[in-house]
Amino acid sequence: MARIEIPAGSAPCEIAAVPANGTLRRIVEFDRVSKIYLPGTRKEFTSIRNVTFHVEDKPDVGEFIGMLGPSGCGKSTVLRLIAGLAPHFPATTGTVLVGGLPVEGPGPDRGFVFQDYANFPNLSVLENVAFGLECAQVPEKERLERAWEWLGKVGLDAKNDADKFPYQLSGGMNQRVAIARTLILGPRIILMDEPFGALDPGTRQNMQDLLVALWKELEATVFFVTHDVGEAVFLADRLYIFSPSPGTIFKQMAITPPDRKSVEMQAVPAFQESVREVRHLLDQAGRSSPTDSSPA
Ligand code: ADP
Ligand code: MG
Repeated sequence: MARIEIPAGSAPCEIAAVPANGTLRRIVEFDRVSKIYLPGTRKEFTSIRNVTFHVEDKPDVGEFIGMLGPSGCGKSTVLRLIAGLAPHFPATTGTVLVGGLPVEGPGPDRGFVFQDYANFPNLSVLENVAFGLECAQVPEKERLERAWEWLGKVGLDAKNDADKFPYQLSGGMNQRVAIARTLILGPRIILMDEPFGALDPGTRQNMQDLLVALWKELEATVFFVTHDVGEAVFLADRLYIFSPSPGTIFKQMAITPPDRKSVEMQAVPAFQESVREVRHLLDQAGRSSPTDSSPA
C-alpha cells in the first residue's frame, strides 16, 4: 500500500532514513546546481537554483523518483541536465555527477521518454524499437529478434503491430513503442518527462501498471516527472517536490512502493490520504519563498 512513511519523532514527510551504508555508490548527484540563461544581460533568467540531491545505486533494486511541482519550476531542466541535453545542459553553476563522473553529454546509460513519444514516423513499429541497437552495432537478425521480444514486454501484439507505422497507432500504443525503444538499450537511468500526460485516464493507469512491472525487471533508477499527484504517489518510492521558479527542491519524502494495480490503489483510503497530504505540500511549496526550502 502506498503511504507516506513518517519516522517516529520526525516532522511529517521528512525523507525516511537512508540505511547507513557508506559503500553505496551515488548514481546521480546534484550539488548546488543552478541554471541561468543569458547571465549578465537584461534578459537574465534563473530557471533552477541550488538544486541538491543524490540517489544511491542500490544493488539489484533501483529507485523510482517522482518529481512534482508547478509548471516552469525546472523539472524538465533537471532531467535534461542528467541526460546531458542542451540548451539546459550544461548547468551554469554547481556539479552534476552520474556514476560519480561529471556529465559530458548524452550516453547510452541514460534513456529519455518524452510526453510526445518522439517515434520515427517513417519507420515501422519494429524498426522504431530496434533503431537504437543499430547505433550500438548489434547485428540485424539479433536487433529484430530483441525488438520483437520487447513489443511483447510493453504489451503490444508483435504479430499485429510490428509492421504498422506510428500514425496507425493510438497514443497509448505509441508510448509503448517509445518506452520499448528506450528500454531495449538497457539504460541504468530512465528519465521520463510527463510520459503519460497525453493519455486518457484508463490508458494512463494501464501504462502505470506496465511501468511498475518493467521497472521491477530492469532494476534501473527512474526519474519520473508528472503533474498527476496520484500517479506520483502510486509509482514513486521517493518524491521530490519543487518550489516555483526559480525551482529548487522544497521537500523530499519517502513513499511505500505500489503493491497492487493502479485502479485498485485509487480506492484505498491510506493512498487517498497520501495524495491529499502531497497536494497540501505542493500548495505549501507554491506559497513558499526561496528561503523556505529544506536542504535536500
Ligand atoms: P518545468 O519542466 O518544471 O515546467 P522547465 O525545466 O521546462 O520547467 O523550465 C524552467 C524554466 O526555464 C521555465 O520558466 C522556462 O521557461 C525556462 N526555460 C527553459 N528553457 C529555456 C531557454 N532555453 N531559455 C530561457 N529560459 C528557458
Ligand atoms: Mg517540463
